[in-house]
Order: sequence, then C-alpha cells, then structure tokens
Amino acid sequence: MIVKSSHLAAVAIGLMIGGFAFGCMHSGEHAQANSAPAAAAPAPAAPAAAAQVDATRLVGADKDPGNWMIYGRTYSEQRFSPLTKINADNVKNLGLAWYYDLDTDRGQEATPVVVDGVMYITTAWSMVKAFDAKTGKLLWDFDPKVGREILIHVCCDAVNRGVAVWKGKVYVGTIDGRLIALDAATGKPVWSVQTTDRDKPYTITSAPRAINDKIVIGNSGSEYGVRGYMSAYDAANGKLIWRTYTVPGDPSKGFENPAMQLAAKTWNGKWWETGGGGSPWGGISYDPDLDIMYFGTANGIEWDQKHRSPKGGDNLYLASIIALNASTGEYVWHYQVVPGDVWDYDATQDVVLADLTIDGKLRKVAMQAGKDGYFYVLDRKTGELISANNFVPVNWSKGIDPKTGRPIEIAAARYDKTGKDFTITPAPSGGHNWQPMAFNPQTGLAYVPAQEEGFAFATDKNFRRTTVGNNMAIDLAKVTAGKGQAFKNALKGEKGFLLAWDPVQQKEAWRYQYAGPWDSGIMTTAGNLVFQGNATHEFAAYRADNGAKLWSSPTQTAVLAGSMSYEVDGEQYVATLVGWGGSYAILGGGLARISGPQRNISRLLVYKLGATGTLPPPAAEEVKVLDPPKQTASAATIAEGKKLYGRNCVMCHGVDVVSGGINPDLRYSKLLDDDGFFDVVLGGKFKDQGMVSFAKNLNRKQAAAIRAFIIQQAIDDKLEEAKQAKN
Ligand code: CA
Repeated sequence: MIVKSSHLAAVAIGLMIGGFAFGCMHSGEHAQANSAPAAAAPAPAAPAAAAQVDATRLVGADKDPGNWMIYGRTYSEQRFSPLTKINADNVKNLGLAWYYDLDTDRGQEATPVVVDGVMYITTAWSMVKAFDAKTGKLLWDFDPKVGREILIHVCCDAVNRGVAVWKGKVYVGTIDGRLIALDAATGKPVWSVQTTDRDKPYTITSAPRAINDKIVIGNSGSEYGVRGYMSAYDAANGKLIWRTYTVPGDPSKGFENPAMQLAAKTWNGKWWETGGGGSPWGGISYDPDLDIMYFGTANGIEWDQKHRSPKGGDNLYLASIIALNASTGEYVWHYQVVPGDVWDYDATQDVVLADLTIDGKLRKVAMQAGKDGYFYVLDRKTGELISANNFVPVNWSKGIDPKTGRPIEIAAARYDKTGKDFTITPAPSGGHNWQPMAFNPQTGLAYVPAQEEGFAFATDKNFRRTTVGNNMAIDLAKVTAGKGQAFKNALKGEKGFLLAWDPVQQKEAWRYQYAGPWDSGIMTTAGNLVFQGNATHEFAAYRADNGAKLWSSPTQTAVLAGSMSYEVDGEQYVATLVGWGGSYAILGGGLARISGPQRNISRLLVYKLGATGTLPPPAAEEVKVLDPPKQTASAATIAEGKKLYGRNCVMCHGVDVVSGGINPDLRYSKLLDDDGFFDVVLGGKFKDQGMVSFAKNLNRKQAAAIRAFIIQQAIDDKLEEAKQAKN
C-alpha cells in the first residue's frame, strides 16, 4: 500500500523564466490523484532531540549503517551503504513505499540525509523539508524565499544538493548566498548569515558539511565574475571562523596567506577585476585522522584565458583539487588538473577517499573522475599523483605526464591561442559532472555517471564584460542553432553510461549504456548493488560486481540526484529525488531531449522490499504549438540576432531555441509577434520569474534582431517537421 503524504502548494513557481507563457503546469496537480490511506501508520512528530549528530557519530558513521548523516554518507563521500537486507538476490522485490510531490518544477539534485528515523531534504530554490522517514509524513518545511531574479547569475538551474546536520540543527546554503541554521525539530531558523557579497554574482548550490563544530560552505559564479572561496562558520552561532580564497586578489592590497602569494605568480593582467573565478561549488570530503578537507575548484573567469591572464600562466588554483586544514583553513596541498584552463574543466566533482592497495602498498588515496575526462588517484596526505587515465575519449590532451602530473596538451585545443575553432571532447558538461560517483570497498570499483559529448569552442571576438549574464568570452553562437545534419550528427555523438572503473588498474570493469547523457548520481551497497537513475525516466539497480541490471522502476521524469539508503525499525529503504533540470536541461535545448521527451516532475521517491506503490499518471502537458509570425527581417538582421542570442540568451533558452524541458519554448511564445517581447527583454516585465531586463546589454534594434532570429528558428523547424512528416 502506498502512503502519500499530504501536499502543499499546487502551482509551480520557476516555470516561467522568460515569462513566455507556454510551459507545462504539472508539479502538484496529481497530488490528489492518489489519495493517501490517511493513517497507514500514525506518524510521530519530530522528536524534540532531532539530528543529534556530533563528531563521534560522523567519524564513526560506518558503525551506524542505518543512518545517512552526510551528503555522501561518510566523510569519505564513498556513497557506500553497508546495509544488506536489500541485496542482489531480492532487489527484484523492491517497490514504492511512499512518495512526496515537491513544490518546485526545477532540477532536483539533493541527496536526502537521514538521522534516527527523520529525513531531511532540500529542493530547488533552496527549500528544506523534514519527513518521518518510515511513513513519509511531512514534519516541517522551510522556504528561504529567494528572490527569483537571482536566476540571471545562475548557470545551472536553481538547484540545491542538500543539507548538513550537527547537534540539533540542519544547515542549508541558499542560491542567493546565505547559510541558514534551522532547528532540526521544528524547521525554525536559528541563525542566518550572508556568506557572499550580494553586489557580485555569487550563488550557492552545494551542500554544506559539518566538521567539528564548524559548517564549511563554498560558492558558485565562475561563469559570471566572482573570486572563489571556502568558508567555515561556527555551527552554534554563524560566526565566521575562517575563509580561504582559491585564487589571489589584487596584489596591491597584500595577500591573505603565502598560498595566495605563490598563486599570484601564475597570473598576469588584472584578473582581480572580475574575481578570477575558481569557485568551489561541488563535493567536499574530509579525513578526520589528517584533519584535512578536500574539494575542487571551478574554471577561471573569463573562460578564454587572454582576457583574465593575457600572458597565459597556470592561474592557480583554478581547476584544482585543494586540501585544507579543516580546523584553520590553511593550505596543505593542491593538484591542478588543468593548468591555465580554457575549456570549463571545473575540478569540482566529488573527491572520494579510500584506502587502496597499489603496487603492494596500502595507500590513502583521494580519487576524482574529472570533467576533463581523466580519473585521478592522488595520495591524499601529500597530493602526489599516483595515477591517471582517461575514462572517456579525450581529444584535448594525450594523457597525464606521470612525472609532472600535467596534461600533455594538443596545441589545436587552445582556441584562445590559435584563434581557430576547436570541437572538444569532453564538452564543458564534462566526462563526469556534479552527479556524485560512488566507491564500493567490497568490489574495489568506483561507479561513475559518465558521458561523452562534444562542444565547439571559439573565442568571442567582440567580447565585452557585462553585469547581466555570463562573461565566458567564448562565442556561443558557434553552438547555437544547429539544425539538419549537423544537429543529427551531434545527437549521435552524445552518450551517457554507468561506468564501473577499477581505480587500481585504472581501467574499465563494465558499463551500462543509456540513451543519452545527464543521468543521475550513484549509490552502491554491501548488498552487491549499484543504484542509478537516468534521463530516460527510470531508477534502477545493477549488480555491483558485473553490471547486470536487476530491477528498475518508472519515475515519469529524469533522475539527476544521488540516491541513498537507510534503516528504520529494522527495515531498509532506498530513497531518491527525481526531477529534470540543471545546466544540460536549460542550455542543451533539443540536445537535452536525446533520452526522450523531457519535463520536470519533482518528487521524492522511497522504496522498500515488498512495497507495491505506484505513481499517479502524470497530468497532461500543456504545450501549445503556435504558428510562427511572418518573418519581416533581413537575412543580415537574422544573422545578427543569432549572434546576440548566443551571447545573451543561450544559457537559459537552449542552443537551438528549443526548450530542454525546463524553461519555456521561445518558438511558441505568443509574445513573438507583439511589442510585449520588448516589455520582457528590455523592460524586465518578468523579473520576478527570473527573466530580468537585458537593457544594459541590448538596445531595441538588437532585441528586435533576436526576435527575428527566434521567429526564423520557429519557421525553419516547422518546415523541417513538415519535411519529416512527408518522408
Ligand atoms: Ca564551470
């Protein structure tokens, strides 16, 4: 019997970015479709002493397998559950125990945290909810009420990856840069601090971590213009304890520490004017014996190096794995995976800690499957490279030099130096992106959400910095509006798969192929299982040793988040958030639909053995395909509109002006043949939905050119469809 908890608001909020009003309304509409058996189990209120988590419990998490108290379950971020009641022999009997409809319609990227029978999740827009983990009863929820206009500073959707818990409090980082402590029993705010300068385009999407009475938190924004840093706050009162920058500031103001002084030697020009980038927006792991925390840093701002550091240089500590003393924030070591990066190869993927026997010696390692396509194994005490091998095809380098630890680059890949376009693989979406990998100490294998994609890099010859939108300084018109054969070829090259990787041998053990990229994070268990969801609307379990697919369940929407497992009253559960979104869904456009039609249905799904729950049928999707208005602009104006669309619009509205399933499809906007277009694009009419005014970037003539380009896309697509229908 399925237990569905009572639901809140029905109407989605973030759908109408751009305000072009033909999205689909769905989230919550089916809340009534499958009514709950009201009192399947009388749900207790949250215990007064909720989330009583301290250092002893977190360090000893392996001896407490029923709980999942950290984003990656343990400080090692292995995402390995020692629970075995659900295992390879019986997983076929796994069924839906309960689910909960979420009140947002954007990407869901959080991993639930469970402590003593209470589950804490975050959703898009940095909202937090607590549930009875057995029954699914909502205990409390919290909405930080983020102003939606922040979306203009968000590359990758209004997502959030989860909470930290510590001594009765639950901590969330909000997309507008706050760190908020909530009472774990009631959800009421205890303290809140602004961790960023609101005058700069900082955001937060990653989960904070609790380490020894401190809450550590990073930030995002390296596509827009920020200086990255990691901060540690007093868990009790929100007082800043330490802050460590990842790139140097203006040398004339002095350096915060010797690490910044050293790093400044690898930069030139006036990088501090845009901040330099290097935001640590992804995974954080921690070795309690060494008291070292590990995380990665993003690309630089701008992507094209000649703007941020005209004479080149490594630009430390961009695209690096960094080790800090967790008590003081002092630099311990760094390993720069891509010196002088120009390809958006953020090194922010989770850094997974394990003890591996390599060449007969037990090594304490830190592992990362990078966006750049290489699987790195480092000594986590010293940062020394032990080994690296590519886990997906790479065409920007020939390998990693084992002596220097530097990539052996292919000169043609440096489009910034050659001035020539270069189609690179992996794309900026990465051989592996934020979706967390897992490591199973029993099989010795790492499980990576891997993908193969290409991306056409070209320098933006007319680049000007802006405070509205991105400052990457690459010509996004090159990836804009691929149609016909070129588009079909691009589709063929897009791949996504579950990759089991042997980190000792540095080679593939097995893979499970999906229809396309942008599949979910991964969990593995002592029951010889690997769990992963995918973009084809499915959550599935595989044998950890050989990859045989053992079970799957339909999810009605793509799955991005990492799943987790916990135990209450002797029964094991598996939980995952589902809901399409993220950078690929908003930038990818038609490419984002390679795995099938995409729409967001945001939910929390919880499974156990023998349960037989089903989801209600999804509400009908309201997509009105309008006939495009007549084209009145010249070919030159349309071409200019394409360039301007690439510069201003593509990050949110898709490379081919096709909705990737999150933001409205501009081709079908009724505002296209109306002056209302200018009210939105220049007047900021829909800023409360995230579509701010672009009047700082565009005059009316330029906005009209963009409109002409969108109309042309709609006309061309209509013709293409008619041609296909005829064939
Ligand atoms: Ca980036």
